[in-house]
Amino acid sequence: MKNRILTGDRVTGKLHLGHYVGSLKNRVELQHQYETYLLLADVQALTTHFENPELIKENLRQVALDYLAAGIDPEKSTIFVQSLIPEIAELTAYYSMFVTVNSLKHNPTIKAEARARGNSEMNYGFLGYPISQTADITFCKATLVPVGEDQIPHIEQTRKIVRRFNQLYKPILVEPTALVGEVPRLVGLDGNNKMSKSMGNALVLDSTKDEVNEKIKKAKTDPSRIHKNDPGNPEICPIYAYHQAFNKEQSNEIFEGCKKGQIGCMECKQKIAGSINDLLEPMRDKRNQYQNNPKRVDEILMSGTERARQIAKETMLEVREAMGLNYFS
Ligand code: ATP
Ligand code: MG
Repeated sequence: MKNRILTGDRVTGKLHLGHYVGSLKNRVELQHQYETYLLLADVQALTTHFENPELIKENLRQVALDYLAAGIDPEKSTIFVQSLIPEIAELTAYYSMFVTVNSLKHNPTIKAEARARGNSEMNYGFLGYPISQTADITFCKATLVPVGEDQIPHIEQTRKIVRRFNQLYKPILVEPTALVGEVPRLVGLDGNNKMSKSMGNALVLDSTKDEVNEKIKKAKTDPSRIHKNDPGNPEICPIYAYHQAFNKEQSNEIFEGCKKGQIGCMECKQKIAGSINDLLEPMRDKRNQYQNNPKRVDEILMSGTERARQIAKETMLEVREAMGLNYFS
């Protein structure tokens, strides 16, 4: 049996460049070596968007299109819907018995996300979402989880839960490892340290050429650079970070040129917009093909969900047996 990958995204909006370099690129490459499961995290989207379920419904298909456009092969990878696997909710309930509220409250990503949303009081579902992620990862006994840097504390939490379960009941669960992408955390267009769907600072993969050019034109740069000949500070400039991520071959040259005030921000932006458009162009074609065939997309999601459900049922039997909850068998 091939080792398994489990990873996914909240269906709160279309995927962006941060997703691509943080995780999606790895998934596309690894789907040939690993049995790959991609979760459309609609339940996790509800933790922050429970008042807007219609937004989740719309974005479920958009994120599926993002996967397919980026090169996820539905013959190789299983794309499925989180809320249609009730075993995930069941596992979440069991695991939540041995996770302390304190450990969740001190999780650095939970803290940062709550702060960014201005939440002084966290809802129970949001606070507990790392437990639900543990259920996602363990129902299919994934060994590898390609994710961005913000997810590392959650994978650590998952490993702890797995160890605790195995020690309390029976060693049936598998401890996963995080695989962080080449760019663990891509900066936002506004200079915020994380490009994020919900922060309005993202460049989505489904952008037209003009949208890329326009958004890059307006993106933040080093604020101390006013004239072209002013020496710049590429290390704090989002545009330079994008060169490192999407125009690696020229990034040293850009760094030097900026430091010496030899390359202006306009030129630097035009170059990176070109590289980003080169990356996105083939995705646009593929997306179009699938977008024109919505029935096919639905089939992919339904059959993927069915496959995932089968595995979830098998794991659930093992879990119940391990915990002694198999009363009548
Ligand atoms: P939201 O703002 O709704 O939370 P998001 O942009 O943070 O959306 P998620 O669905 O929460 O996206 O994250 C999905 C995956 O993409 C995770 O593995 C996360 O680490 C990764 N990821 C998200 N943003 C970035 C980024 N800017 N750089 C690298 N990886 C990222
Ligand atoms: Mg997020």
